[in-house]
Amino acid sequence: MFFIGAHLSSAKGYLNMGKDALKIGANTFQFFTRNPRGFKSKPLNEEDLAGLSRLMQEEHFSPVVAHAPYTLNPCSTRPEVCELALQIFREDLKIMEYLPGNYYNFHPGSHLKQGPKEAAAKIADMLNQVLSPDQHTIVLLETMAGKGTEVGRTFEELAMILEQVELSEKMGVCFDSCHLSDAGYDVREHLDQVLSEFDQVIGLNRLKAFHLNDSLNPLGSHKDRHALIGEGFLGLSALTNMINHPLLDGLPFILETPTDMEGHKKEIELLKKHYHESEAHENGSDNQ
Ligand code: FE
Ligand code: FE
Ligand code: ZN
Repeated sequence: MFFIGAHLSSAKGYLNMGKDALKIGANTFQFFTRNPRGFKSKPLNEEDLAGLSRLMQEEHFSPVVAHAPYTLNPCSTRPEVCELALQIFREDLKIMEYLPGNYYNFHPGSHLKQGPKEAAAKIADMLNQVLSPDQHTIVLLETMAGKGTEVGRTFEELAMILEQVELSEKMGVCFDSCHLSDAGYDVREHLDQVLSEFDQVIGLNRLKAFHLNDSLNPLGSHKDRHALIGEGFLGLSALTNMINHPLLDGLPFILETPTDMEGHKKEIELLKKHYHESEAHENGSDNQ
């Protein structure tokens, strides 16, 4: 099953995002729980959330991904910034309970020269305070490009966080093809190798979602500048391999490419045309 969607605006509410997804040919999507660069959220509208849940069921959507604000930093050197991250996280997880069975993705944070080890302990500490055994949301750590002091530029750094989380069954990972390549993982030429490395360090069972982006910059550039599908360093054929890879089958693929709904609609059409067409897929379970 091919689940493809894009990051959508939540300005007109939850149900409206589901409808927007359908308009662009998507059967999944991502959204910000609140202003991505600030922290403001809108008052909770239970009816609207229930409306989206219903639509997602009727239209056979995959789980959707809520994205935490970029400005959240649970491993800051300033205690008040860590405290704010914890508060936002707690509030967002509460909202997510109105959309049971979906994902909440966040950028692990920036260690600000404390080093990734210190940062991992702080991030895990926050998670241990906010995760609860009866929540219906899986929290995802995103693989990062390694810009500045970003934590999560290697699978080992993500593993260091995961190992310290008590309710590990509530945790997963979200790949980002632009970030992986920028971090130095060669998903363009050696996808199989990257996946097997991830499997060894973290475990493929943890991989829950996939940000499908091209990158403006070459392998290992640590830049994090997304490009349109097929117009960057990765190129259409590498991105096609990703959506057709048997080990990635069934994941929600979400575009975070720099375009509008019309542009995303075209990218989704293009990717749908290429789904099933790559050799990776045909050489999968069929021949074994
Ligand atoms: Fe992200
Ligand atoms: Fe991303
Ligand atoms: Zn990015």
